[in-house]
Amino acid sequence: MSERRWNPILREWVITATHRQDRTFLPPRDYCPLCPTLPGALVPTEVPAAAYDIVVFENRFASLHPVAPEAAIVGTDLYPVAPANGVCEVVLYTSDHDSTLADRSVDEIDRLIQVWTDRSVDLASRDDVEYVMPFENKGAIIGVTLTHPHGQIYAFPFVPPKIAQEFASGQAHREATGSCLFCDVVEEELRDGRRVIWENTCWVAFVPFCARWPYEVHVFAKAHVLSLANLTEDERYALAEAIKAVLLKYDNLWNFSMPYLMAVHQAPCGDVDASSFHLHLEFYPPHRTPVKLKYLASVETSAGTFINDTLPEETAAALRAVLPHGVPDLAAVPLWRTTGVAEK
Ligand SMILES: [Zn+2]
Ligand SMILES: [Zn+2]
Ligand SMILES: [Zn+2]
Repeated sequence: MSERRWNPILREWVITATHRQDRTFLPPRDYCPLCPTLPGALVPTEVPAAAYDIVVFENRFASLHPVAPEAAIVGTDLYPVAPANGVCEVVLYTSDHDSTLADRSVDEIDRLIQVWTDRSVDLASRDDVEYVMPFENKGAIIGVTLTHPHGQIYAFPFVPPKIAQEFASGQAHREATGSCLFCDVVEEELRDGRRVIWENTCWVAFVPFCARWPYEVHVFAKAHVLSLANLTEDERYALAEAIKAVLLKYDNLWNFSMPYLMAVHQAPCGDVDASSFHLHLEFYPPHRTPVKLKYLASVETSAGTFINDTLPEETAAALRAVLPHGVPDLAAVPLWRTTGVAEK
């Protein structure tokens, strides 16, 4: 069963996907469905090859469907119900089960961005798709069901609320000032400098002024770029460097492989003038200390107001201080590796 239900109070869609309850949950290492199918294997995995570079396939436990199933319930005027149409894809970063995106070379991350771009263009060409978001959930601690290094791409039949809010803010700012809101944010962060943790010629990574999460980091294009498909090859490669740098900083901050949520925010692809949007990536690690997590409590969940226990200027200083500091020696930055961290 899968459908979307309109919440007339919050004016947003909620997707039901009850079949996802049966998802494979943290299988033993030898039964990873995302590993290559080794010669002589009794059960094939999702990938019928003995090794692979990057693989994309449709999610078997999708919440959005190219041919959406019938809704479980009939909607009303007050509660409209629509098919959960769209596409959910899985992106395997590598056939190396025991690695993370931070382990991949800048060249490999560059190829991953090319895959995000190709898939975004293809999915955006569907009539029923209004938004394409590549993302990654990393770490058992945030509920990841398979530890094999992978991300996902959702092609939504609507613009999700957070993107819609960013998009509306960008439009309002452009009408009020004539300039791009996000370009102005980049300019202010670079001028101030206290929250910047890393930059190269094309990208700047910073802890947002109003960070909701202690170690939240946003990576913005310095040039006014709308979407992945608008990047030049140099800008794309520089983005791969920026992603590698942020992930290395996370892993080197407390010397364990940092769990995080990561999402690409690009312009809506429906029939809209998206020229006031601006490509950026957002990273949300759930940790607030090496052994403490931030939870969404009543004020965050019920009121929608986040309380951050840290100062963005101080967490930015901590991230800025750990390796890597600059572009040229990214491959040489030592990476602390572990299989996990004790949680309290
Ligand atoms: Zn695996
Ligand atoms: Zn801009
Ligand atoms: Zn955003």
